[in-house]
Parts: sequence; C-alpha cells; structure tokens
Amino acid sequence: MADGHDVTSFLIRLNNGVRMPAVGLGTYKLTEIEAYASVKAALECGYRLIDTASYYKNEEWIGKAMRDCGVPREEMFITSKVWNTEQGYEETLKAFDRSLKRLDTDYLDLYLVHWPVTGKRLDTYKALEHLYKEGKVRSIGVSNFHVRHLNELYAACQVLPVVNQVEMSPFLYQKELLQHCQTRDILVTAYSPFARGKVLKNRTLTKIGKVHGKSPAQVIVRWCLQKGMAVIPRSSNEERIKENAAVFDFSLDLEEMQVLDFLNSDLRTTTNPETVP
Ligand code: NDP
Repeated sequence: MADGHDVTSFLIRLNNGVRMPAVGLGTYKLTEIEAYASVKAALECGYRLIDTASYYKNEEWIGKAMRDCGVPREEMFITSKVWNTEQGYEETLKAFDRSLKRLDTDYLDLYLVHWPVTGKRLDTYKALEHLYKEGKVRSIGVSNFHVRHLNELYAACQVLPVVNQVEMSPFLYQKELLQHCQTRDILVTAYSPFARGKVLKNRTLTKIGKVHGKSPAQVIVRWCLQKGMAVIPRSSNEERIKENAAVFDFSLDLEEMQVLDFLNSDLRTTTNPETVP
C-alpha cells in the first residue's frame, strides 16, 4: 500500500484525541551507549515514538539522544512506564518525577502501568490519572493487562486508558484481547513483535516477504499495522532500525494476513501477566 505515509507521518488517533506514531523504537535491553546511538539514529531517520521504562535503566541516555538529535521535543512521542516495585499512589508520583528527570523533559507523551501488580495496580493508575489531570502527561495507559484486569479498571477509573501495550506477534496472536481493546477504543501496542529475533528465519515470513521484496521483520511490522496495532520493534543496528520502519510502500493481502494468523503458536518471550504476583 503506497499510502503516502512514512514512519514520521503515520499517526493513530488515541481515544483522548492525541495522535501517536504507529511505529516506534523499543529500547529494552539496550545498554546506555546502545540506547543513545539507537535512539539518536531512529529520531534522525524519522522515528518519533520512543518506548522506554524506568526498568530499562536507559532513560538518561535516551534523554541525551533526544537533546542531541535536533528534533524538537514537541515532535517526539515519548513513552515510559512505572515499574512494579515503584507502584502505589505516592510511589508512582515519585517514580514519574524520577523518569522525567532522567529523560530531561518536563512532560511525557504516554505513561503506562508496566504490569498489573496485585493490590497495587488501581492505586498506581489513580496516580496516573492525577498526573494526566495536572497536565504532566499527555496520555495514560496500561501494559500487560488482560481482559480481567481491564474490566476491573473500567469499574474504578475516571480516565480510560488510551493504550494497552502487550506482547503480540503472528506467533502470539492474542485475538480476543485485541478485539476487546478495539471495542473499547484502546490502542494495542505490540511489543516483542519479533519474539526477540527468534522468529525471523521462519519460512512463511521469508516467502511472503519475497513476494513484496521485504524482509521477515518488515512483514511482521506490516501485519501488526494492518491488524490496527501500533508496534515498537527494537534494534541496536542503524540499518535494521531503518528497515523496520520501511513498511509504508507495500501491503499484505487478505490471504497473506490469514496465513500469518495461522502462525500462532502461543509463543511468549516475556512473563505471562497471569503469573505476576
Ligand atoms: P523484539 O521482538 O523487538 O526483537 C528485538 C531483536 O530483534 C533484537 O535482537 C534485534 O537485534 C533483532 N532485530 C530487530 N530488527 C531486526 C531486523 N530487521 N532483522 C533482524 N533482526 C532484527 O524484542 P523486544 O523484546 O525488545 O521488544 C520490543 C520493545 O517492546 C522493547 O524493546 C520494549 O521497548 C518493549 N517491551 C515492552 C514490554 C512490556 O512489558 N511492556 C516487555 C518487552 C518489550 P539487533 O539489535 O541486532 O538488530
């Protein structure tokens, strides 16, 4: 689909009216130096969405890359998350301030509850609502929430989450969760779309990619977009960072999408949220 979009301009409207780029750079496991170089390269080649978390311990270096890249702050979309040990109302407010300080910015575009920690998640979300009402964050949301966690949240919240960031790929196609979120106008952001690189030699992906002159990684990014999700692949390599965003000049047809759906094997590379204490 030569739709005239690129990684900078393809934005998705969130349920609060804010626009979020559909493709961003993930930064989990990037060391300080890798985080600086990858985020700077990504911002310079057109990415505007950067996904981090206090848990990743690289916010400070991402902040430096944001400062050095020459892109105005208001053009960027920065996501961070409150870690499990920082949850609770007061603790979350403090964790947010620490993230802002490390990122050297005075607001976040999106702040997420990283995991649905039992006994803490609702108070944590209340703190996010407070930050949202104070104008310190443009949008708030959750991560790793299953339908039962979301249903509990709807009953307690005043501000609907704009995003649920969950593990999603053709190999872990959480169809019911996706449909639930779409019914509620909550954008699903797909994390670990490449199952940490483990699936990129798959023959079906390679075959479909060849038809379009695209790589297996690009086929997965495209599958995510055509499912109506945002997606945040990580790479520490400048060429692969560019490759993962070069997905706006082709589209998968219905048959190809269905073939990809059948790759589902419930392959999870991160903890199952049901096992989080
Ligand atoms: P991904 O599924 O994005 O895979 C990353 C791996 O794929 C790296 O080893 C990378 O290697 C490789 N890779 C990237 N692009 C290509 C390519 N074009 N060709 C070949 N190999 C490639 O893993 P992540 O788990 O990092 O998920 C992405 C992001 O999602 C995270 O970085 C984080 O921001 C977020 N996330 C959120 C979680 C949550 O709980 N909310 C949990 C986990 C992730 P190389 O660097 O050498 O290119």
